Amino acid sequence: MNKRILRAALCALCLLALLLADAMPLTLTRNAAAVTQAEIDAKKQDKKKLEEQKAELQSQLRALQRNKSDALAQKENLDTQIAIIRSEIANTEEQIAQYEELIAQTKADIAETQRKHEEQYELFCARVRAMEERGTVSYWSVLFHSTSFSDLLASMDFINEIMESDQRVIENLQATEMQLSAQQEQLEGELAEQESVREELTARNQELNEQLAAAQKLISDLAANEAEYQKLIREKEAAAEREKDEIARLSRELAEQQAREAAARGETVSGGTKGGYIWPCSSHYVTSPLGSRYTGIAGASTNHMGIDIGRVGYSTQVVASKAGTVIISAYNRYRGNYVVVSHGSGFTTTYQHLSKRSVNVGDKVAQGQVVGITGDTGVSSGPHLHFEIMENGQIVNPLNYLTNYIRGWR
Ligand SMILES: [Zn+2]
Repeated sequence: MNKRILRAALCALCLLALLLADAMPLTLTRNAAAVTQAEIDAKKQDKKKLEEQKAELQSQLRALQRNKSDALAQKENLDTQIAIIRSEIANTEEQIAQYEELIAQTKADIAETQRKHEEQYELFCARVRAMEERGTVSYWSVLFHSTSFSDLLASMDFINEIMESDQRVIENLQATEMQLSAQQEQLEGELAEQESVREELTARNQELNEQLAAAQKLISDLAANEAEYQKLIREKEAAAEREKDEIARLSRELAEQQAREAAARGETVSGGTKGGYIWPCSSHYVTSPLGSRYTGIAGASTNHMGIDIGRVGYSTQVVASKAGTVIISAYNRYRGNYVVVSHGSGFTTTYQHLSKRSVNVGDKVAQGQVVGITGDTGVSSGPHLHFEIMENGQIVNPLNYLTNYIRGWR
């Protein structure tokens, strides 16, 4: 029997098997310890919650926009929305990776089913050849000469008898074909789902860029109004001055607590020491030094308590300049997301305008350990890192220590 006829026979037999066989339960086997659709569904659920939070913030923002005076509240709202969009992007990227795994599993399952199908098909061919040898070929000619479905049904009594012994082979083959087609359908579904999540990722990245631009426009609009901007800078500096004392106090308290704990263990702790800092990020391009600086607006020179490091985007790692303990990890309207690390009583480093904070209060950090990612949260006219050093409760110039800098200010 040639291949074409064999295929025709297979087709007809499958139809018969469909008619004769009991409904077979169709189960798709899955390797253990792998990604499940339930896990992806949980991610989608998380994503939905983030969407809801964002919608709430958007309605709050519209209310704030009606009250034009509160630009910093609008900036805070946008900073928060941007953080949520970043979470959505992370969530979406995780989903894509999970689908990737799921798809690989399904492809492996299909390969396994195809292997099984091949075996069963060979067995089937062997049976057909055996039938031919036994001279039961008329059975096949009945099938091939059946011109219609009713014609075929009419021949069924005759066929049934012959088929008894081969029934199981056909059933198995047919079940495997159903399994294969179900698995292929599943694969197509997973690929389509993954594609729609990829589209979602593109949309969220676009939304992120739009909101980052909106946040920047808010600050540049603010800076365009000279009087208002000067007022804002004065507020920011006054807040920084107050914060300085608060940071010194937190650092002292932590040092006292650590000294007490050490004493209880019969140990002593050494106090903070000067120097020993490393650059807090890969860029050494300083756009604004300590002290008075040019803000871009005449008369708006301020007392800058740290240095601004530019040529960073929204994804540059910020690392602890010196080992210590995190005493502040928070959002503030002026400083944005910021982290303060204590290195002993009155010795601290501060990292501001982060797009993301990676540490919590109380965390011990090693020198060089990531504490966050650069950004432009708070009052910031573009992504940069504002970095401060305090020694013995006093602000010191970071450039006294970080000497290999590139001068980016005039
Ligand atoms: Zn600064």
